[in-house]
This record gives sequence, structure tokens and C-alpha cells, in this order.
Amino acid sequence: MGYVDEVLERVRTKNAAEPEFLQAVEEFMESVRPVIDANEDLYRKEAILERITEPDRQIKFRVAWVDDNGQAQVNTGYRVQFNNAIGPYKGGLRLHPSVYIGIIKFLGFEQIFKNSLTGLPIGGGKGGSDFDPKGKSDREVMAFCQAFMTELSKYIGADIDVPAGDIGTGAREIGYLFGQYKRIKNLYEGVLTGKGLTYGGSLARTEATGYGVLYLTEELLKCNGKDIAGKTIAVSGSGNVAIYAIQKAQQLGAKPVTCSDSTGWIYDPEGIDVALLKEVKEVNRARLTEYAAKRPSAEYHEGKGVWSVKVDIALPCATQNELLIDDAKALVANGVQAVVEGANMPTSLDATKYLQDAGVLFVPGKASNAGGVATSALEMSQNSERLSWTFEEVDSRLKGIMVNIYHNIDDAAKRYGKEGDYVAGANIAGFEKVCEAMIAQGIN
Ligand code: NDP
Repeated sequence: MGYVDEVLERVRTKNAAEPEFLQAVEEFMESVRPVIDANEDLYRKEAILERITEPDRQIKFRVAWVDDNGQAQVNTGYRVQFNNAIGPYKGGLRLHPSVYIGIIKFLGFEQIFKNSLTGLPIGGGKGGSDFDPKGKSDREVMAFCQAFMTELSKYIGADIDVPAGDIGTGAREIGYLFGQYKRIKNLYEGVLTGKGLTYGGSLARTEATGYGVLYLTEELLKCNGKDIAGKTIAVSGSGNVAIYAIQKAQQLGAKPVTCSDSTGWIYDPEGIDVALLKEVKEVNRARLTEYAAKRPSAEYHEGKGVWSVKVDIALPCATQNELLIDDAKALVANGVQAVVEGANMPTSLDATKYLQDAGVLFVPGKASNAGGVATSALEMSQNSERLSWTFEEVDSRLKGIMVNIYHNIDDAAKRYGKEGDYVAGANIAGFEKVCEAMIAQGIN
């Protein structure tokens, strides 16, 4: 058995109860197989694959807080510090009832390569909790965040590990977390990104992930002889990534016609009204039924369905495994030309393969949604020099980074005879840099 298959077997046995982590590792291993095969003896001797699939550290802790009825509640908190070969651990905090160690490990693993692709000095980590902010009062969210940070603060720092937002963790949560860190440590430092603009946040960080997805999509289409202007787009999700993907798509002359949340989805043939969507989701924290009630051109449907709409481009921006094989078949049957992931691992492995085999341009989230973490790294730079850059400066750097990522993954795929396979290109380009740094730093 070759080295890749041996390590895959070992990872499967050791992590059998963590299907999302295994899915992320399997995709990675298949992609880097040609790189490993070209230098198998060295990588085997260095145990590169065993080391890169084993987190540096996994922290799990109790988070006890008191709800508005005076009742104590208990959640579980996690931080996985996966790999810091190229910089301090960096990755968001997910607050969602589905969170368990397997989700955090898959996200932390993907983060290693994503962060490497940005070209910035950041390692990979991820954290979160099974706490559900939905339906909680501001005071309850604050109580949870303070309890969570009381424990997490022992393990993080501006040069150690710098968390950020993710599903369920937005500006409100980052504010409460930062306040508690400062109170406990008596230290004003850039320990979190996604901060508010009055206390060290960066302009354009809120928009960065969604905008970045579109900057990469624009370059992808351009380099494949297509134009984004005039294209219809299906977007899933209606959170941070989805909203700003829709906004930038419209600025580039495309027409997003769908969005979704965990209960239903919208089809709006006249194009999504971003101002209304922001009011419903960012201000009122309401369901999409409210959008449909205020927008005569919109249809609301219960359950899932955005991928059944005939579009040129699909941007999954909600969560993992939300675009499955039947969705891929429906998209291809409707003539989709590109699928670019805004979320982390939204497309299952078989759906990805189906899309690629059908000739659809497919870019994985670790490349296409890297604009969020890249801008977080720009926020860290601004915090270090105690300066703030203008929106235009951050946005133009973001665009440069996304265009660069596209060319890097395209080149890496070509170097290994896999032209147009951006999954392979992203994994290979991300891996090469981390691998070189790990070897240079010796066995640890
Ligand atoms: P938000 O919490 O702002 O929004 C998430 C959206 O997805 C909401 O519309 C939510 O609906 C929906 N959603 C979440 N979980 C599920 C589920 N299990 N089933 C169906 N719908 C679901 O998160 P973000 O927009 O920040 O994150 C979206 C994705 O992008 C995630 O995969 C995240 O890891 C990834 N990402 C985010 C980055 C960022 O900067 N924010 C950076 C890079 C990647 P509802 O409100 O009903 O739950």
C-alpha cells in the first residue's frame, strides 16, 4: 500500500466517528497524491501526512452560564489548534447546535490550506460551541460569550491564536468576547478579528468573504472566456457570506435570484433586494418569510430547493454538505457553468466529482472563501501598526489576494497535469507551502 493510502487508513480508524473530518481529509489526500508520489521517501520519513492530519492541540471545555429565567445552562466549548507552521493559529468560532469535535476538526483542517493560499502568515485553527444564539436575548448571548472567553482566554493571544466569526458568531458576539478577554487579561491586543470599527476592526471585513467569492468568480470566468455580467446566480444562505456575495454580484452586473435559511428559501426572479435582505437578517434577525411578505416579486418555499432553479452560476454560502449529488444533477441539467463555494465544504465529494466530470468550473471554499480570513489577517496587520486603512485600500488588497489565489490554484493544477481541477490545485498549492515550513522546522 502506498504512503497516502496507509495514512488514510490510519486516519479513518482513528477518527471513525467524525465523518466531516474524514470527508475533508479524503478530498485533501486524493488531491495531493501526485505531490506525495513524487517525493514519497522524504514525506514518509518526515511523517508529513500523519503530522498534518493530527491537530497540534484540541481544547474542550465546559461553558456554564445563566439564562433569563435564572436557570444555569451548560454548553461545550472547543478550540482546535491544528497547525502553526506558517503563522499563529487563525480561524473562526462557530456557534451552532450541530457543533461537535468532528465539525471543528474538519473546519480547522481546511483552514490550514486556506490560510496558506492567502499568502499571509497565518496557521490553521477553529473553535466554537453547541450553543445556539438563535432566540436568545442579548443578555443571554453576552453571558454565554463571557463564560466561553473566560476559559478560551487561557489558550489564545495576538501572537498565539486569533479567533474570528463564523456561523452564529457575528459582530455582537465578537464584541462580547473581546470585552471579556480584555477584562480578564488586562491587555488591549488584536486577539480577535471581525471587531467593531470603534475598537480595532477593519473596514471591509464584514463584506470580505462574500466580496472575495465574487472577485475570484469574476477572474475564473474571465480566464475561461466568460463574463460575469448578465449571469443569473443561485445563492444559498442569507448570513454574512451570502448577503455580501449577493451585493458584489449585483455590483458586477450579475443577477442573484435566490437565498435561503435553515427553514426555507426565496426565489426572486427580479433579483434579490439586498437592502431588504439586510433589514430582515442583520437588523430584525427574522426569517425569510418576512422578506417574502415585503417583496411582491418573491416566492417563499419551505425546506430546501435553491439548486432546482435554472441559473448560470451557483454559490453555496450556507453550511457543509448542502449541495448533494441530486442537486449537482439538477444544476447540470439546467446548464450551470460554474459552482464556486462560499461556505466551507458545502458540496459533497460525489457531487463535486459529478460537476467536474460534467465540465462545470468548480472552485472549493478553501480557495474561494479565503477572502474573509485574508482580510482578518489585514486587520491583524492594522492592529500591529496601530493604524486603520481606508475601505478602498483593504478592498483593493482583498481583490488582489483573490485574483492571486485563482492563478496559484490554476498553476498548481497545471503543474501536476490536472488543468481545470481547482480542487487539486487548491489543496496542492496550500499544502506545498505548509509542508516546506514543517520540514524546515524539524520534527515537532
Ligand atoms: P451566518 O451565521 O452569518 O449565516 C449562515 C447562513 O446559513 C444562515 O442563512 C443560516 O440560516 C444558514 N445555515 C446555517 N446552518 C445551516 C444548516 N445546518 N442548514 C441550513 N442552513 C443553514 O454564517 P456565515 O455566513 O458567516 O457562514 C456561512 C458559511 O461560510 C459557513 O460554512 C462558514 O464556515 C463559511 N465561512 C464564513 C466566513 C466568514 O467570514 N463569515 C469565512 C469563510 C467561510 P439560519 O439563520 O436559519 O440558521
